[in-house]
Amino acid sequence: MPRFRSILDELPVYRPGKAVVSAEGRSYKLSSNECPYDPLPSVVEAIAAAAREVHRYPDAGCVRLTEALAARYGVPPEHVALGAGSVTVAQQLLETVGEPGAEVIYAWRSFEAYPLLADLSGVTSVRVPLAAETHDLAAMAEAITPATRMIFVCNPNNPTGTANRAAELTAFLDRVPDDVLVVLDEAYREYVRDAGVPDGLGLYAERPNVAVLRTFSKAYGLAGLRVGYLIGHEPVATAVRKTMVPFAVNSIAQAAAIASLAAEDELLERVEAVVGERTRVREALLGQGWTVPPTEANFVWLRLGERTGEFAERCAVDGVAVRPYGAEGVRVSIGTPEANDAFLAAAGEFRRS
Ligand code: PMP
Repeated sequence: MPRFRSILDELPVYRPGKAVVSAEGRSYKLSSNECPYDPLPSVVEAIAAAAREVHRYPDAGCVRLTEALAARYGVPPEHVALGAGSVTVAQQLLETVGEPGAEVIYAWRSFEAYPLLADLSGVTSVRVPLAAETHDLAAMAEAITPATRMIFVCNPNNPTGTANRAAELTAFLDRVPDDVLVVLDEAYREYVRDAGVPDGLGLYAERPNVAVLRTFSKAYGLAGLRVGYLIGHEPVATAVRKTMVPFAVNSIAQAAAIASLAAEDELLERVEAVVGERTRVREALLGQGWTVPPTEANFVWLRLGERTGEFAERCAVDGVAVRPYGAEGVRVSIGTPEANDAFLAAAGEFRRS
């Protein structure tokens, strides 16, 4: 038997959201917070063109994409670092501090990959419980010790959808020592409509120890291609680049991301449609009598406790895949109006049962 690191004995294999099909053949995947629309024709064209060059290695430095992102956000290219999805950038970040004794703080519940990646990189996880489904930033500041090297703030939070606002974020950042990196995970930034929730790029601009993590997987609809990025000050971005596996971001993904930035207006119109549906879904759920935390992301959170599994099974009967979290609750992505109607019908029936 080959011998592996002992930490692997305790680590689960990551389990993504799966599609389900009803007896009538209907299938609505609302379990992975994906964009519900097909890729834009201009993006598909860019992918086809890049496909003709796949006998060559990709641009290892992602130069054109880096420049496109730098221009888009008005930051120096040296402040941008790419990875194969923002989950990989999160892993790279943890590797930059992965020494025995190092601690990373994050809220719990939050993005499921944080504990997995922390364990893999040898960083000790310090989980701070959510308060009223939202990051308890005061408690997170209290949790800082001399061993703290990094803090993830998932804003909006996955899976609850809640977002922290400017005053509390600034008060929190004021309490974080300069040598601790705060990573604002803004995978769902494009869906935020509460003007009180600050754009992390404004916070990064003012503070050398703040970096922003973003992705092409959600609003830009490229989940299958795996492109994410960090915007942080030069020492941070350089450290992240050093931990990148060579050629991790493939050439098709780079081309599609560049084409998506060029088609941003069209993509953001789709985001607007999802935001409209989010309002409709949340209001319908409230009307059915559910408690639904206000959400700034492309999903809603229902705290179902012991009935979580039963609820997910009920939705699956109608071909609606939702994401159950143990005996805590379910996260349901906002999809097309038809998918959302199917979900609302299942939720309404469950409520009456
Ligand atoms: N951060 C958060 C908060 C997420 O929810 C996700 C995706 N579920 C990611 C990062 C990773 O996304 P990706 O790797 O596709 O960029």
